[in-house]
Amino acid sequence: MTEARVGTMAEVEGILGNAWHDIASLRKHFSQLYIAVEQSPAATAITDPKGRISFVNQRFLDVTGYSREELIGQTPAMIQSGETPSEVYRDLWHTLRAGRVWQGELLNRRKNGELYWEAEVITPVRNDEGDVVNFVAVKEDITERKRQENELKLMATAFETGQATLITDADMRIERANQAFTNITGYREHEVLGKTPRIFKSGRHSPDFYAKLWDALLETGHWQGEIWNRNKYGDIYPLWQSITAVSDDAGRIRNFVSVFHNIAERKRMEDELERQATLDHLTGAYNRRAFDTALRQAIFQAELSDETFSLLIFDIDHFKYVNDQHGHDTGDAILKQLADRVSGNLRSTDVLSRWGGEEFTILLPDTRLRGSRVFAERLRGQIAESRLHGLRITISMGITEYRPGDDMDSMLVRADEALYRAKSMGRNCVVADEMARD
Ligand code: GH3
Ligand code: MG
Ligand code: MG
Repeated sequence: MTEARVGTMAEVEGILGNAWHDIASLRKHFSQLYIAVEQSPAATAITDPKGRISFVNQRFLDVTGYSREELIGQTPAMIQSGETPSEVYRDLWHTLRAGRVWQGELLNRRKNGELYWEAEVITPVRNDEGDVVNFVAVKEDITERKRQENELKLMATAFETGQATLITDADMRIERANQAFTNITGYREHEVLGKTPRIFKSGRHSPDFYAKLWDALLETGHWQGEIWNRNKYGDIYPLWQSITAVSDDAGRIRNFVSVFHNIAERKRMEDELERQATLDHLTGAYNRRAFDTALRQAIFQAELSDETFSLLIFDIDHFKYVNDQHGHDTGDAILKQLADRVSGNLRSTDVLSRWGGEEFTILLPDTRLRGSRVFAERLRGQIAESRLHGLRITISMGITEYRPGDDMDSMLVRADEALYRAKSMGRNCVVADEMARD
């Protein structure tokens, strides 16, 4: 806002110089100044010492929405909104009465009821005797500026309190980063300014991954997906990241805005849920569905390679009797203990499942029938010799090996037939299908 202020006739005279003494040039100057004021983008009003409006320029009419006829003779109370804090007016009148220029911001109301902000300079004009003869008010409508300021403040708050956000220029050099960014990455904003997001690369993604990301970003202006990054301390963690290209009016990319959040916890929970969904709740062994998947996978593998594997089914002998004699809860406890015992004998690649009731299956990768029979025999013996929940329990087992052309059913049928034979041979024994092959 201007520093040069005139408040007396003498000061005006000083500025106009010689023109003051020549009525013709005074008229010329007056009309020039009149045009300047009338055309000025600043709303201007002149009042008498009582505050009655004697002059308003065009801009004043445009801003307030009133006509000249409506305003002349009225006081500026007409455009007051009642929303400006009263101390502002107190300060205004105090300053003007003291003969000084007042400068400040007022919240006024247009004829249509709309509120608007004005930055205003009011100058008391004194005559040669020093009496105030007029007030000249020059105002600028700053509603839009205020709105933009508020919006900026709002955006700044949203930026600081929202999700982790990174803003880069078109060359991917980091221009802004917020607090949430620091919380996730460990980097403070000043540590990454001017750098590119390459410093976050985890090495987990192929060049192809980044190429696809860029293709999408440049083609559609947007990319989002899961990405693994490395934080300041070297830890690698998964993010859900959304990158948007921001272009100017000419369509040139000016910035990239990247918003992300850490999904490590969500992934951990998903993995846990997925794991839970594959397990039998009572025994902790895999459930039938998970076993089906493992068996299908093993068959697929075997079809593609020379590898083979064995399938084993076992069933507790006379378990009905155990339940009848000792109760269902004891039966459950035995099932659980049995699964634990068996698990203790498995390699990490073997898959134990509770196939149903008191029937279990085991997948033994890379194991021929001969090997699986040795394993089964040892397991059977171990169970028979130990006590489960204080009781002597035995199991019968049927085993088979993958043969080319097998599918799940054909293998399960053979293993089941072998188990059936074990039962009919008196239980507590192992039967391999097609002994002759062994
Ligand atoms: P077999 O030697 O011929 O196998 O005789 P079995 O009595 O074990 O007969 P079968 O295998 O047909 O019987 C299964 C029994 O297992 C039926 C049921 O009482 C018991 N059972 C099945 N599931 C559960 C379970 O989840 N908990 C308990 N406690 N018992 C179960
Ligand atoms: Mg059974
Ligand atoms: Mg049984």
